[in-house]
Amino acid sequence: MIQHDDTRVIGIDLGGSNVRTAVVNAQGRMLARDQDITPARERSEAIVRAVLESVTRVLEKAHMAASDLGAVGLACAGLSSPETGILYTSPNLPGLKDVPLADLVEKELGKKVLLMNDANAAAIGELHLGAARGARNFIYITISTGIGGGVIIDGKIYTGSIGFASEPGHMVIDDEGPVCYCGSKGCWETLASGTALERYARQCIEEGRKTSILDYADGDAERVTAEDVHKAAQAGDALANEVIARTAYYVGVGLANLINIFNPELIVIGGGLSNIGDMLLKPAYDEAKRRAFPQIYQAVRFARAELGDDSGLLGAAIFVLGEMDGLGRLSIR
Ligand SMILES: [Zn+2]
Repeated sequence: MIQHDDTRVIGIDLGGSNVRTAVVNAQGRMLARDQDITPARERSEAIVRAVLESVTRVLEKAHMAASDLGAVGLACAGLSSPETGILYTSPNLPGLKDVPLADLVEKELGKKVLLMNDANAAAIGELHLGAARGARNFIYITISTGIGGGVIIDGKIYTGSIGFASEPGHMVIDDEGPVCYCGSKGCWETLASGTALERYARQCIEEGRKTSILDYADGDAERVTAEDVHKAAQAGDALANEVIARTAYYVGVGLANLINIFNPELIVIGGGLSNIGDMLLKPAYDEAKRRAFPQIYQAVRFARAELGDDSGLLGAAIFVLGEMDGLGRLSIR
């Protein structure tokens, strides 16, 4: 797909819960995979160590040494730049602030490391191996604890002037909405993410609304998850259905903004909350249709992500393959 040679790279997806690594060949095939818990609350040294240990294990599984690798693609949530290799800030990994993450991993492995945003990597993964194969202009959105996304324009990931694009989760949907960790108010992810859904469900329960949601959470409002709300909604609970409809409404408002700005041919939606499926997504698409220009809306189709938890690490591997020349050298960094 990218190169017809025997180059092999490692893709890493460093998330708030798990660190996943894979050895991937030049044709985009996964040769070995490893996964472990991220010590997310610890300092940067412990997090880097967890990444290196996973790399060591995945190399063992592939019967390879680090010296056999072309390069490494490292995807991580938060603001980072492929040019500098610095992770500036990450919502899921508070211990990593202004950390030269690419250099730290590079020093240990002796191989070039390209750092990128995890949602951008997932977009690249879905473009080459998943639901967006063959698309030229598409947007990947992941809805889970937050909302992330990647924008592919004319077949290439759009990273912006300093590498921070895109952060769709922080477009403002309600200027007086809930305070966001980014410093703004009413960001898309404060209204349409899994965290937002859970917060609203808890709030309604604490206000004394009648619901069976608590039956799915051991009677503890603090433990209510999006999955509990989904189960209650499937069983016909009125409040649970209202909570999901409200979230769908806000998902749709954000989608309408993206559709009007980018005129994409395809929007691929992944992330844990999208597992609710049609109950969440159909009304979201309908709301987007009510708000977007009809001609632009007609040009877009929607698909569910296909690569699941592997989109980020596969995308990171494919991105680094794409940045290598025929001699296995990286064109950036
Ligand atoms: Zn925000």
